[in-house]
Amino acid sequence: MKILKELFKIAKDARDDAMSDIVRDRLNIAEGTRTNPEALVNPEQFFGFKKKNKDKNEKDVIIGQPEIKQRRGWDSIWMQFADIISQRSIDDRRKVGAVIVTSDNAQVLSLGYNGDQRGGPNVVESNEPGKSGCVHAEINSLIKLDYNNQKKRIMYVTTFPCNDCSKCIVNARIDEVVYRDDYRNSDGLKILLDAGIAVRKHPVN
Ligand SMILES: [Zn+2]
Repeated sequence: MKILKELFKIAKDARDDAMSDIVRDRLNIAEGTRTNPEALVNPEQFFGFKKKNKDKNEKDVIIGQPEIKQRRGWDSIWMQFADIISQRSIDDRRKVGAVIVTSDNAQVLSLGYNGDQRGGPNVVESNEPGKSGCVHAEINSLIKLDYNNQKKRIMYVTTFPCNDCSKCIVNARIDEVVYRDDYRNSDGLKILLDAGIAVRKHPVN
């Protein structure tokens, strides 16, 4: 009987050890997705269950773990938001959407798309590049921005800002610009970077 009890205890201890490994690994994964910005861009990196590799020179293996739910990163959410807003644009040649959020992702401060003035005819003046006559998405979002909010501001915009918009973004004290598509003129990049604004390109989904 005593031997049976001993055996039972050994089995229980072994199970508890295994469980604590599982819990620790899950916490590590959760922590990784929350704090590693790269994980937000490449969530599949943390999609799964970390298994410690015995060989120290080898990387930990990640195997499937359907119980762990991967949350979508904010970058992806906001860029899709900007993309949806762009669908309001009347310019079929290039629809652009912009969303300005606080850097803690807690608040949407403003949004805009390229279009006519309020109450205008809502038609483009020309299909030639640069001659649509539309107010740009970035400007439309900046003129509606809540400037009383002192939190850092990130602008998500579907197309890289033109020169004029880049200058307005600087004057509006936007802290970071995240864009998805390149623009035919990238001179605005120097304007933004010279002003100390962080610029990131979001991958096309
Ligand atoms: Zn512009």
